[in-house]
Amino acid sequence: MRIITADLENARITDEVFERDSFSSPGGTGLAAEYLAQRSLAAGPGQFPLVFATGLFAGTRLTSSNILSMGWVDPSGALRTPVFGGDAGRRLTDHGVKLLSFEGSAPDWVYLHVDAQGQVSLRDARSLAGRGTAALAERLRELHGKRSSVICIGPCGTDLFGTSCLMVTDADPSVPPRQAAGAGMGRAMGERRLLAVVTEHSPRPFSVSFTPGENERFGELCRVINSAIAEDSLTGSKLPLFGPLPGAQAPASGWSALLGYRNDTAPSSASNWRDKIISSGGYCAVPCMPGCTVRCSGRIPGSDGRSSPAAVDCGTALDFGSATGIFDISAISRIERVCADHGCDLSMTGRILGELVKTGVLGFGDSRGALRILSGMFSEDSPFREMFAGPSQDDTGDPVIESPLSRGYEPRSAEERAPLCFMCIYPWRAVSASPEAAGAFGELCSLMGWPCGDAASDAEELLRKSEGKIASLLSR
Ligand code: SF4
Repeated sequence: MRIITADLENARITDEVFERDSFSSPGGTGLAAEYLAQRSLAAGPGQFPLVFATGLFAGTRLTSSNILSMGWVDPSGALRTPVFGGDAGRRLTDHGVKLLSFEGSAPDWVYLHVDAQGQVSLRDARSLAGRGTAALAERLRELHGKRSSVICIGPCGTDLFGTSCLMVTDADPSVPPRQAAGAGMGRAMGERRLLAVVTEHSPRPFSVSFTPGENERFGELCRVINSAIAEDSLTGSKLPLFGPLPGAQAPASGWSALLGYRNDTAPSSASNWRDKIISSGGYCAVPCMPGCTVRCSGRIPGSDGRSSPAAVDCGTALDFGSATGIFDISAISRIERVCADHGCDLSMTGRILGELVKTGVLGFGDSRGALRILSGMFSEDSPFREMFAGPSQDDTGDPVIESPLSRGYEPRSAEERAPLCFMCIYPWRAVSASPEAAGAFGELCSLMGWPCGDAASDAEELLRKSEGKIASLLSR
């Protein structure tokens, strides 16, 4: 596979072979953090690249193997290694890309383009910066093909807002970009004047080569894993039915609790949320990335009934309903679209609006007021601008505006990153709970050339080592 390095300052691209033996980590968050530490040691203090890494199982048929990890050191000096779905991990893998690294800052806005043959170049993006993400992705797909994946930032990212996030396209080309890495991550690209990463569909997609015998065995092991996932009550039924909400066992807290709802009767509860999605013409059981057998995402139609559907999961209900009293699905759909177009993190937005409700600035359940605040957030004289523009974390790495729900909710957060080198945390939980599937997983690691005793703790250890290196670099 390949490591692509883009020197943004000098507009130079380096394309190297990914030497498996040069890294102890096989892929995903561990590799992103390890590479980031290695390059920073070579480049000197403060020279941290921005890194994207595909997972250990990229290029195979294992479920949720198209996960994409990011590595970035934020302005507070904390290592951030979020992961995300969408179609970008798959498209990069199709061109054999294991790792993509951005160094320095471009003099003006650029985007990175990987063409159908896998050739990489930096393109002028000056005329594209400042657009909403839907228009930006649409234009980039007009230029480079409908099946291209796009990772991009919107106005929140170009203005370096603390609430800015990355947006990524979905495998379904009719769906506009969806939220990817969380609050503050848009700055990682914005501060480098990197507007987007566009990867064209490859006519000859890369896949890991096995001998025929290994290939057959790989398929058998994947079947064992898929059975464990299908038989697990969370991954086999609740997540496809309700999205991640039951997985997080969301408490009926915030406004729902104050109003006296129990978990199962709160307007933002999993079953109420599902009913709303279905009755609005939407549907559930959609994979957030190509090839996931769990499919815990969903779609809601455009709020005007005509525009393309939006990707949605129960986290949306959690971050809005409980925090703001906004339970109306068409209002939430409009808010989601505005946030997506701005490239503004939805969870963080829910928390900020919740604070405004708590302090009486915004009415309980006032979706129009919420939309007015969001639409005006870039205005220099908006009293709310600083809430969105300010830092998303304090210098301890804790969120500046904390949600009582979000820590319990975010199951892909720091505490459980280790398996993210391999797959999403939800299928991982089902695999690790089944001795047969866990054994199959160990054998899959061996087939990939990474014999490991306990894959999760090995990966966790590797990540810890990289974090240690980065911490020592920062303390110099
Ligand atoms: S389990 Fe859900 S969040 Fe994880 S990869 Fe599958 S669809 Fe995405």
